[in-house]
Amino acid sequence: MIRRTKIVATLGPSSNDAKVLDAMMEAGLDVVRLNFSHGTAQDHIDRAELVRSLARARGRAVGVLADLQGPKIRVGKFENTKITLETGDKFILDANCTLGNQERVGLDYKDLPKDLERGATLLLDDGRIEMWVEEVKGAEIICKVIQGGVLSNNKGINRKGGGLSAAALTEKDIEDLKTAAALQADYIAISFPRSAEDMHLARRLLKEAGGHGMLVAKIERAEAIEALEEIVLASDAIMVARGDLGVEVGDAAVPALQKKMIRIARKHNRPVITATQMMESMIQNPIPTRAEVSDVANAVLDGTDAVMLSAETAAGLYPVEAIAAMHRVCIEAEKETGIEFNRRHATTEIVEVDESIALAAIYTATHLENVKAIAALTQSGSTCLWMSRVSTAVPIYALTPEVGTRRKVTLYRGVYPINFKVDSKDRDELLIEAEEELRRRGAVREGDLIVLTIGEPIGQAGGTNTMKIVKVGEYKTRNN
Ligand code: PGA
Ligand code: MN
Repeated sequence: MIRRTKIVATLGPSSNDAKVLDAMMEAGLDVVRLNFSHGTAQDHIDRAELVRSLARARGRAVGVLADLQGPKIRVGKFENTKITLETGDKFILDANCTLGNQERVGLDYKDLPKDLERGATLLLDDGRIEMWVEEVKGAEIICKVIQGGVLSNNKGINRKGGGLSAAALTEKDIEDLKTAAALQADYIAISFPRSAEDMHLARRLLKEAGGHGMLVAKIERAEAIEALEEIVLASDAIMVARGDLGVEVGDAAVPALQKKMIRIARKHNRPVITATQMMESMIQNPIPTRAEVSDVANAVLDGTDAVMLSAETAAGLYPVEAIAAMHRVCIEAEKETGIEFNRRHATTEIVEVDESIALAAIYTATHLENVKAIAALTQSGSTCLWMSRVSTAVPIYALTPEVGTRRKVTLYRGVYPINFKVDSKDRDELLIEAEEELRRRGAVREGDLIVLTIGEPIGQAGGTNTMKIVKVGEYKTRNN
């Protein structure tokens, strides 16, 4: 039984070990996320290398997602690492404070006081602590604690309703982009973009750094919801970043927004990752809660390309079990998904020849009886992306000699990379090789149908322009 939804896992102290990482791959890991909020550039380079060498040893591709920190606003450090705030306390966020205490704490974003006025609500540590702004006096934000709790070093601050002005790319992000380019990240996630312009800037900077990865917009600001469609169009993929988003727009608004984001991403042929707290209790426990199982299954039913693990695999006790749990939940949920075509195509014209072949192929594969596989001979993988926007049970194999393409498609729902040399210029030979490859992998058997797409003439760079239906074993029988 193959799983269509992909699994992204964040690396961290719990998953640095080669043995653990290898077990995570065995359990079904498709893409690793390098979280640039923690660790040095060298840590990330080393991790990417380790992942790729383990993947090579297994003869498979694993994608690398570099996730930039972005302008996450944080409190400074405390004298004794943490304090306890009681509801009703007065507390000062002070841009000039260097070491915090029970009365005040510093801020890494010195302009925060300028963005706030009396009446604003601040949420700290992913909403665990809530404060109401009574007054802003110079560098001091004087607050009243509405919901108390323990506040420790460097916890995040969000403003309820959004509206903080920090730019989407910090100096650290610009440095980290260079690291991401150097380690050839397949995906680069931009945190807290507010607009398409933020994504355009990120793209320019990535290009300058010599990177080729796909840009992922993390939708986690209230403003990004307003500009959702333009951000999707300015990006190569999106992430439903439920952690920060839930703080800004309120947790109850997130489920409906998740469905909307997935729908819009698919409509515009963009892959989408659903993230944060999916298997949260597995940080401590070897099995998920019923609610977490439902959450993962619902994301699958919504049509997400990938589900993501954060602290579960980065800092939890059960990184391998978390992946195994996601794997089995996805497979079960996928049994319930029917065929659904991209709504956009009902109303818009297709302009690209390769896109039209991709859609013809997926239409045929889902409607013609006995088609067991789609084989897309591809360079860039775009044919597979178009195909994967249609919800179907037929697996899509991306046959490509390009290692970058094999790594990239690890995120696409229902698409599986295969290393496929196209040295042979003879079309018939090539198609038989493709058929043999799928047969060797157990993807098809004698008598099954394969829908094949290819760009002709063979051996020349150019888009997919041909679709062929192959009956497994027939060619050989005919030639015997
Ligand atoms: P983060 O992003 O884990 O980098 O904060 C994801 C989210 O906010 O959900
Ligand atoms: Mn976030």
